Amino acid sequence: MRKWEKNIRTVEPYVPGEQPQNTDVIKLNTNENPYPPAPEVVRASAEMNTDRLRLYPDPAASVLIDALAALHGVKSTQIFPGVGSDDVLSMIFLTFFNSDSPILFPDITYSFYSVWADVYRIPYETPALDGNFMINAEDYYKDNGGVVIANPNAPTSIYREPEFIRDILDHNRESIVVVDEAYIDFAGRSALELLDDYDNLIVVRTFSKSRSMAGLRIGYAIAGERIIKALNDVKYSVNSYTLNMPSIELGTAAAKNNDYYSRITQKIIATRERTVKELSKLGFECLPSGANFVFAKHTSMAGEVIFKELKEAGIFVRHFNAPRINDYLRISVGTDEQMDRLFDFLRKYA
Ligand SMILES: *Cc1c(COP(=O)(O)O)cnc(C)c1O
Repeated sequence: MRKWEKNIRTVEPYVPGEQPQNTDVIKLNTNENPYPPAPEVVRASAEMNTDRLRLYPDPAASVLIDALAALHGVKSTQIFPGVGSDDVLSMIFLTFFNSDSPILFPDITYSFYSVWADVYRIPYETPALDGNFMINAEDYYKDNGGVVIANPNAPTSIYREPEFIRDILDHNRESIVVVDEAYIDFAGRSALELLDDYDNLIVVRTFSKSRSMAGLRIGYAIAGERIIKALNDVKYSVNSYTLNMPSIELGTAAAKNNDYYSRITQKIIATRERTVKELSKLGFECLPSGANFVFAKHTSMAGEVIFKELKEAGIFVRHFNAPRINDYLRISVGTDEQMDRLFDFLRKYA
């Protein structure tokens, strides 16, 4: 092996859900929103001054963070924006997880966490979810270099109340605790209500799911000012201009039009509840969902078989070839019409 080859930073990469170029498929595999962005976003896009593309964007994305601060009732200095929450989470791992003690996150959770830990050479441990796929708070009482909890968890879809997060925070006064709330708008109360009590809490949000903007790549962290400053110091040492001008402008329009997003979120929740009922009639068991997807297992058919047959029929869902969950399908909640097509197909297994 040559010297440069020995020096490669090797890592087993994260595998994103498929983005088929064929637009005929029913795409229920990456938890995107089936509804369009708010009319104000569409208008801002049509009226965008493209001459400004010559210029670098505002490195601080000030208009966006001001709109987000107003939306969440926090100060602008408490928001750190990034290129999707993946970018924000990656920056959090790089900035805060520099301890010799392992960071902790569940064995079944967003599979990017272990990839960032690997690429940044962060030691980690993954306490097992219990038999009902619930996080056991006591597993997070021990010494650690940081804690990461997705709430609702992915791909299980299970949501826990802020009291559960508070319990973990009370036992981790000395660690950064990250709560990844990618799906919180489909669930209930946010850990944001704990921010004033814990200066070591970071809440991470995304516009990819409940805001119909996966294509623009907008995510952000909300935390105390010291945490946000530390994140900015690292960000400005890697890449100052993270969000591009269209993302800043359209993201701002989205943040200012919350009512529209509340309405489509309610529609998705109603479709999710119908989906759980229909799937149970069709021989599936679903975990209780607080997300815009359901995690479902057929009582007699292997998950991988159904996954492949659905794909051949042009219906894309997600299947994870991992221990304990390989009989489950993660099915994004689409429009009612899309879900009806799915149910029609699944009738042959009922
Ligand atoms: C989708 C998702 C993300 C990433 O979202 P982006 O903002 O699109 O990068 C992060 N965490 C969880 C748990 C997710 O499901």
